[in-house]
Amino acid sequence: MEYRFELPPSQQRVAERLKTALESGGFPQALLITGGAGVGKRALAMQLARALTCVDDEVRPCGKCPYCRAVRPEKGESPWLWVVPLAGDAEKLEKEEVRLELTQKAVAPSMVDPWDVEAFPSKGTVRVESVRDVLRELGRKDVRTRVVLVPEADRMAASSANALLKTLEEVPENCYFVLTTSHAADLLPTVLSRCAKIHLPDATVAEVGEFLERRRISVERLDQLWALAGGSPGQAALMSRESVASARSLAMGLLEWTAADTSLDLAGWWSDFSAARKKSETDEETPRFVVSALASLLDDLMRIVSGLPVRNSEYEERLRALPFARRGADVVRHMHSELLKMERHLGHSVAPERVFLALALKWRNDSPRLDLSLASEEPRK
Ligand SMILES: [Zn+2]
Repeated sequence: MEYRFELPPSQQRVAERLKTALESGGFPQALLITGGAGVGKRALAMQLARALTCVDDEVRPCGKCPYCRAVRPEKGESPWLWVVPLAGDAEKLEKEEVRLELTQKAVAPSMVDPWDVEAFPSKGTVRVESVRDVLRELGRKDVRTRVVLVPEADRMAASSANALLKTLEEVPENCYFVLTTSHAADLLPTVLSRCAKIHLPDATVAEVGEFLERRRISVERLDQLWALAGGSPGQAALMSRESVASARSLAMGLLEWTAADTSLDLAGWWSDFSAARKKSETDEETPRFVVSALASLLDDLMRIVSGLPVRNSEYEERLRALPFARRGADVVRHMHSELLKMERHLGHSVAPERVFLALALKWRNDSPRLDLSLASEEPRK
């Protein structure tokens, strides 16, 4: 029996590991795929689901057997069970038919394009009722292999994770759970410990280039886009939009404001931010792009600390002029962890401008405390 996966060269080691596990017949019944957003976790989970449900004797997935033929991405149809983050009125979501309809609506585009990093509503969570729906389904006797896909598993509330735990401990025969997450640290340790883990590494510049080419997306500066997208093809596709340039400039502006003395006016930044938001395709796009741009610029500050070449090369001079890299790795690391904390506040009711302002103030207040040598530094002119 041969198993086939379509993965780029940088992810071949993952493919080998999965093949070995499948061929040995001891494939883990609970698997967690980790890796950055848009790096291909859901695409791999679907390939795995195909391989696990296919019944061909020679090559899996074969594309010909009844199970392979039952997968019709354009219609959102598959023999797999999905538990996905849902958003909406809590009362309505308690109704099974509403949940199923919303799940179907979310799964269909995700099956057509598993690389879409915006496939599921950003404010959605994995409902405990959805978990129970699937467990009920698994409770029915069935000889077929069944695969449960749980994308963005970190969005399980404690109640959902707990509902899933017992089943993960003892997965029924012929059943497989494939969870994916870009935030493994947000999963309950109990869930983490019950899953075998596989990490999808970032794609190379060339791989992201090929990915974009297949989608007929042309970009001027592939290296810059790759740096900003953190090696994620899905993010790169999203960020090839025009609004990325303004997000990068907003991110750089915020870092400069953080470093400057208080007299520097933030009103200009504020109005640029509002203007970028008005021009963007969705309400959430600008804040999200600014977060990615900040992460990418902080990454470059860390590279400066370590004496490595920066990736956002057009901002190199301005990055080097900032005091943060000079203050050392701890300061930059701290700024990065504050950024991650702040990211969770976006998408809630607070205006994103205020969230960014709070972040910049936090950076400004914290970074001198972390660095004793700063006291002796010349004040900025
Ligand atoms: Zn097949």
